[in-house]
Amino acid sequence: MFGIKELCSVCQKEIQLNEEVWVRMKYPGKKGMTEIKAFLHQEAQFVCMDCFEETKK
Ligand SMILES: [Zn+2]
Repeated sequence: MFGIKELCSVCQKEIQLNEEVWVRMKYPGKKGMTEIKAFLHQEAQFVCMDCFEETKK
């Protein structure tokens, strides 16, 4: 996502381009959204929809 390879934080599967994902993250603080790529890389945990569906069962 956003040119950075990310893995699902549950199954470690690589997130594919344009794949729908669930993102768990802290809301940005002082930096705001200007450094969103770096912020996502540092703070976001991606969960693929397969794993997200599992959590609902
Ligand atoms: Zn997964």
